[in-house]
Amino acid sequence: MPRYLLLSDIHANLTALEAALAAAEGRWDSAVCLGDVIGYGPDPNEVVERIVGLGIRTIRGNHDKAGSGIEDSEDFNPIARAAVEWTHEQLTPENLRWLRELPAGPLIDGGLAFVHGALLDEDEYVFTVEGAARSLREATSPITFFGHTHVQGGFLLRNGRVEAFRPSIATESGFVPMELDTDTRYLINPGSIGQPRDGDPRAAFVLFETDRQRIEFWRVPYDIEAVQNRMEEAGLPEPLVLRLAFGR
Ligand code: ZN
Repeated sequence: MPRYLLLSDIHANLTALEAALAAAEGRWDSAVCLGDVIGYGPDPNEVVERIVGLGIRTIRGNHDKAGSGIEDSEDFNPIARAAVEWTHEQLTPENLRWLRELPAGPLIDGGLAFVHGALLDEDEYVFTVEGAARSLREATSPITFFGHTHVQGGFLLRNGRVEAFRPSIATESGFVPMELDTDTRYLINPGSIGQPRDGDPRAAFVLFETDRQRIEFWRVPYDIEAVQNRMEEAGLPEPLVLRLAFGR
């Protein structure tokens, strides 16, 4: 049974992606990316090529659809839309094609489900216990991995009750483990690699050992300033540059 690496919301941040891959090296057999490979960050081509090079199975996110032009960015706020337009201009024809062909979730594999947003709506944000309850009750797999909110943690359904959980990783670089129970359904968000919004600016990801039914919630620091400098050089909107340092 494989050990999984779960990545989500990389958002064209190659420095954060490399920090996460270095920390996870040798600890996984199979990797899945839950979408939003591009958008906001300065390295769309480099990040796509790294994911393709590693053969990481990827489902699409809303930024992958908008940045590759298969969906318009009308729903995006003006700042996000400016980043979408910049990203679209940067992408090579080959990378544009790869992004356009990304499948929508859910991807189902070995009793696990992988989605970008909610189980039955890839664009829906699952922030609340009420929203999570719908996905947990509709799930046919005991464990669903999701992204989109950029918040590491998730929700569980046990004895008819839904609860939220949020890990807190105190060491500079490292993880907190969580053992999974068999009579419980889980919705697990690895957090965002390239633009965390849970108040912790470090890159976030998850490792899942299927044999031991054990999750590790990871946080690793990366050179945020280097990414901010590249964003400024590219002329990406200032609020997007600043938020990386706050993790909001
Ligand atoms: Zn995202």
